[in-house]
Amino acid sequence: MDNKILILGAGYAGMMAATGLDRISEPFTLINKKPYHYFTTLLHEAAGGRGEPMDYTVPISSLLKKSGSSLVLDEVTAIDRANNVVRGKDAEYSYDWLVIGLGWIPEYFGIPGMAENSMVLTNIETARHLRDHIEAQFQQYLEDKDEQHLRIVIGGAGLTGIELVGELTDWLPELCVKYGIERERVDLQNVEAMPNILPQVSENLREVAARTLTERGAWLRTNTKLVKVDAGVVHLEGGETIEAGTIVWTGGVRANPLLTEAGFTVDRRGRAKVNEYLQSVDDPQVFIGGDSAWFEENGKPLPPTAQIASQMGKLIADNVSSAAHGQALKPFHASLKGTLASLGREVGVGNVGNVSVKGIVAGLAKEATKVKYLWDLGGLRLTVDKTTEVVHR
Ligand code: FAD
Ligand code: NAD
Repeated sequence: MDNKILILGAGYAGMMAATGLDRISEPFTLINKKPYHYFTTLLHEAAGGRGEPMDYTVPISSLLKKSGSSLVLDEVTAIDRANNVVRGKDAEYSYDWLVIGLGWIPEYFGIPGMAENSMVLTNIETARHLRDHIEAQFQQYLEDKDEQHLRIVIGGAGLTGIELVGELTDWLPELCVKYGIERERVDLQNVEAMPNILPQVSENLREVAARTLTERGAWLRTNTKLVKVDAGVVHLEGGETIEAGTIVWTGGVRANPLLTEAGFTVDRRGRAKVNEYLQSVDDPQVFIGGDSAWFEENGKPLPPTAQIASQMGKLIADNVSSAAHGQALKPFHASLKGTLASLGREVGVGNVGNVSVKGIVAGLAKEATKVKYLWDLGGLRLTVDKTTEVVHR
């Protein structure tokens, strides 16, 4: 049987699939836009000035040890399932077995002007852009004294929005000292349509998070729906407008649109349906993992998280190799470890198993998850190399 394996995307699912195949010496070609893997789960840190954006990356080549596999830098533009071909901007790639880990894009829900007039936190470039933009707004304020430059509106109080707010509550005071601006002049608003922030954690922890961030100067506005965005202006349901120098959208995610375009069976967030072995229900030669995959457990779709994407990637490595050699496949079972949200550099909140954690303990638990991921991805050497850069900040 032919076994030309092609992996699309070097995120959590794609990278775990690649390192897994590398360990069992099964050759593959990995196509990714960039030569590095980045830690999406830490993008709020990079956007909030905690570390240099490139510190949150690892060169993909350093993670692949065996010869016979290759990394191709290209942007995938189409998946042609009828001809077993993937098209990229630079070339076409044929496959016998395809692994898709193309991740997610922001979900704008058709809100007028949102895509054009807001910033997002999706990758290293957008994190760097947001960090630089906020600092440039402080510099601009010194020139024209327009208070709008010091107003930041973040739409959505899910985990991404709240972790970003937390990070900014640590960084903004530093910028104030650097530019000689009173902290009170800076207006950091988080706008959430639902009655609560952080639906993923228990109610008592939401209160802790809200209190912590409010005490640090953030304004958390729940029951407040964002309905339209113009350049520098946010429109809320009810007619209120907010003029802001920085507008960020963290209101949700959907799967990479290439899956819908390729004709896979998708859910309302564009995720392609997979069976228990993480094979596309439309095409047994295609395995799909991470935020691109629609996998149901106990009748409910799994949420799009790095935790699940990594576990899927690991199993896909085994299953695609088994499929290529005509061996039996293993079913996927998610192991849900819980949810941890950082609230800035030191504290956090979270549910780990049945236990609620908060404050410094949650902050430390979050740091531990970074170490665990580095270990799973690249073993001792990567853990030692990267720990000083992204953990001990
Ligand atoms: P991704 O990690 O998005 O990887 C997709 C890869 O595909 C990228 O390398 C991208 O460059 C590449 N790619 C995309 N399109 C193309 C193309 N056309 N051609 C070539 N390459 C392409 N989850 C948790 O479990 N825990 C957390 O603490 C956590 N924190 C988060 C914090 C933030 C700020 C954010 C934004 C998300 C967080 N998440 C967290 C969610 C988590 O990051 C995602 O679920 C995870 O990134 C999904 O992994 P993936 O492999 O599916 O996709
Ligand atoms: P999300 O969908 O979880 O949260 C988006 C929030 O935006 C929701 O609370 C929603 O009510 C709000 N919203 C939507 N439309 C709105 C509007 N018009 N006006 C105001 N508010 C609006 O999205 P996310 O936070 O980006 O998370 C995406 C995925 O990544 C989730 O699965 C999440 O669990 C995962 N994630 C995990 C972590 C972590 O584990 N620490 C961190 C970040 C993201």
